[in-house]
Amino acid sequence: MIYIIGSGIAGLSAAVALKIAGYKVTVITKKIDGGSTPIAKGGIAVAISSDDSPEIHAEDTIRVGDGLCDVKTVRYVTQEGRHAIETLESWGFEFEKGLRLEGGHSKRRVMFKTDETGGEIFRFLLNKAKYLGIPVIEDKVTDLIVKDNTIRGFVTAGRGIINDAEKVVLATGGYAYLFEYTSTQPTNIGEGMALAFKAGAILSDMEFIQFHPTVAKLDGETFLMTETLRGEGAKVVNENGERFLFNYHPKGELAPRDILSRAIYMEMLKGHNAFMDLRDIDNFDQKFPVVSAYLKRHNKDPKKDLIPISPAAHFVDGGVRVNIRGETSINNLYAIGEVSDSGLHGANRLASNSLLEGLVFGVNLPYYVELEWEGISTNDGIINSIRVIDDSSSPSSLPLEQIRKLNWENLGIIRNHERLNKLTSIYYPSRSRPDILVSYLAALAADIRTESRGNHYREDFPNKDPKWEKRIYFRVFNS
Ligand SMILES: Cc1cc2nc3c(=O)[nH]c(=O)nc-3n(C[C@H](O)[C@H](O)[C@H](O)COP(=O)(O)OP(=O)(O)OC[C@H]3O[C@@H](n4cnc5c(N)ncnc54)[C@H](O)[C@@H]3O)c2cc1C
Repeated sequence: MIYIIGSGIAGLSAAVALKIAGYKVTVITKKIDGGSTPIAKGGIAVAISSDDSPEIHAEDTIRVGDGLCDVKTVRYVTQEGRHAIETLESWGFEFEKGLRLEGGHSKRRVMFKTDETGGEIFRFLLNKAKYLGIPVIEDKVTDLIVKDNTIRGFVTAGRGIINDAEKVVLATGGYAYLFEYTSTQPTNIGEGMALAFKAGAILSDMEFIQFHPTVAKLDGETFLMTETLRGEGAKVVNENGERFLFNYHPKGELAPRDILSRAIYMEMLKGHNAFMDLRDIDNFDQKFPVVSAYLKRHNKDPKKDLIPISPAAHFVDGGVRVNIRGETSINNLYAIGEVSDSGLHGANRLASNSLLEGLVFGVNLPYYVELEWEGISTNDGIINSIRVIDDSSSPSSLPLEQIRKLNWENLGIIRNHERLNKLTSIYYPSRSRPDILVSYLAALAADIRTESRGNHYREDFPNKDPKWEKRIYFRVFNS
């Protein structure tokens, strides 16, 4: 039996592809409609138009990745994009006609369906999995069982030990929910990374976290105010109605994501609030039906009201280190999608490349599961060995909400040694608390990387340093 952990685009596409290829598969997931996929909006990047090519898509990805992309992986994913999309379509999924242009892309290449592409793909894949008779079971995986560097099974909260696993595929998403302000769902606290790390798998690039500049939160419901809104004339203002972004960048609302996130965050630090002003967008309800429905749910009128926004943790570039097959450093343990670090994103993700990554690695998994194990290489970085502290008998009482606040304030958009050091002295490599372990590793990596690169910004080291064109790896210390 091949067990897939997680029911986002990566897990469900792998489950469907493996089942069609004749394998026995079961999906175990903490919450079926948890994760980022069901709420992902914009679309999925793939070079299919006549004036585009996988090579140009690769160049864009590498430029945004700021010196840390794994070029082999970038070429692989951009080349395989078309095949992955065609496979999804051959299963019955229909994209809308046309391609969208997004920030960082030099060509129109974002395929979409309505304003909720991720949700549409999620619902389609879930139905397909059910139609094929794949069990999709809600349960939480709490431990991996590994002997002689080979996966033997795993433990779940509800079912205890599962020991008929020939292979295990982690597709548990990222850890953006470990921040007070986030665009993702509560399931995503990095549990898959913690499980893999404790079991002996190597992690990498944990310091790179992408913040989205404009996320609304009305009555507790977070909602991504997409880039397209700003492209269509939405303005960002403070409580005095000032378009303060021009104080930070001449392009104002249309400046790059990282600069916008920093600018809005700085304004908030000065005691101001940030709002999105949608009043100048004509035909708002027709153009943005999903945003419009969100505003209506919370009694906001885009023609009259200003919408409170903030930057928020959105996506994590790093995770369980894998090769292009999705193999981790542990035999028969795979990691695909946001939980993994294939090197596609480097120090910063190009918009709409993450749904693509999940789909390519999921759809192609059947080609690799019978091949002899290759594992991963760590030649392009430095390895840090970390001793896990067994706190099972007295787990930390630090509440998750406090961790999220601490991370937002100290591991967020603007970092420095003092703040990161504060975190690494509060957190520790916990055996029993994945949220603490993952926060510890991310803060440690951010402290070690004494430069600013991609989405990692250090005010005490504001420039990029060529000597840091290397990866930070973590593995568990075995004495
Ligand atoms: C609001 C929003 C909009 C986005 N828009 C886009 C976009 O337009 N284009 C794009 O390319 N990317 C977008 N992204 C990013 C993209 O959605 C994600 O990177 C991608 O969906 C991740 O897919 P995944 O399958 O790896 O994981 P997820 O979809 O995050 O799924 C993780 C799964 O793991 C399960 N899980 C977690 N822990 C456990 C555990 N311990 N045991 C069992 N199950 C567990 C969860 O229940 C969940 O089912 C967006 C993200 C957000 C938050």
